[in-house]
Amino acid sequence: QAEALKRYAGLRDLPAETLCGRRIGLHMNAGLMADLPSLTSSGAEGVGLFRTELQFLIRNKVPRRGELASLYARVMDAARGKRVVFRTLDIGSDKVLPYMKPQDEPNPAMGWRAIRVGLDKRGVMRMQLQALIRAAAGRPLTIMFPFVAQFEEFREARAIFDDVLENERKLHHTVPSRVEIGAMLETPSLAFAPDRFFEETDFLSIGGNDLKQFFFAADRENERVRRRYDTLNYSFLSFIRQIVERCETFGTPISFCGEDAGRPLEAVALAAMGVRTLSMRPASIGPVKSVLRRLDLDEVRKVIEDAAAQGAQSVRADLAAHLGRSGI
Ligand code: PEP
Ligand code: MG
Repeated sequence: QAEALKRYAGLRDLPAETLCGRRIGLHMNAGLMADLPSLTSSGAEGVGLFRTELQFLIRNKVPRRGELASLYARVMDAARGKRVVFRTLDIGSDKVLPYMKPQDEPNPAMGWRAIRVGLDKRGVMRMQLQALIRAAAGRPLTIMFPFVAQFEEFREARAIFDDVLENERKLHHTVPSRVEIGAMLETPSLAFAPDRFFEETDFLSIGGNDLKQFFFAADRENERVRRRYDTLNYSFLSFIRQIVERCETFGTPISFCGEDAGRPLEAVALAAMGVRTLSMRPASIGPVKSVLRRLDLDEVRKVIEDAAAQGAQSVRADLAAHLGRSGI
């Protein structure tokens, strides 16, 4: 990782601007205080996904509000004004808390997880939101709810936030200067939510790891089935395009924060489908930026559409050939 960062250091302060003049925002994923120095070294514009569950996973009981607030405050301090998107607790499925009563669920990935737990066990969710508000201490605050499958869940979660914020105000705590509340789009259902959802959410971030597993009905933890379905599958890319179009209609900012954002071919394809913000592990920022800067996205889009018109299910071979022709 250190070597990769060094190799791309020359690009660090240059924008991820394509040959066709489009600027792609490159942000980093994080989950620990130790990740934050990479914000400077990688040239990331911000933290597009801060996974908060690690703090809950490394302890043997629910962390206290004060501990969380001080950690979140240190994360914001280290970000020095760059935007940090805090994702509320995403437990269940592959992330099981040692102190949580084991749920005997036949399909944990489709079970009681993430926002579903948050809405049913509001105490923990309220405590985390309070910690985030106190950590912001008058600075801007960005929060994203994981695994929202329908508008109602987002509405409820946002109402909880508003209520917690109101309480904090009554308790004379300094409230954030600005609040943005978004949702992760990780289930196909949310892409078909009513228009009002797109109007009411401040932003959306596609959790490609989960979205892909539910789109293809292929367990992300099961190598045998997972590898069968390429992210550069035209069906998936078309779906991403549809999501981007709905967001464009309502002016809803949309980003992509699954692992695929950090793979150069995949990142290029996502950008060609209209995604303008990608969040990835810090070491991927250099390689992704380097490729984006050498391509015209209209040409990439044409390669994708032509491949599909020829009947290709995955556009990988055609896209790789195009990069080859572009000397990449
Ligand atoms: C995703 O699903 O793409 C995502 C970013 O969340 P996680 O990998 O933590 O489930
Ligand atoms: Mg996810």
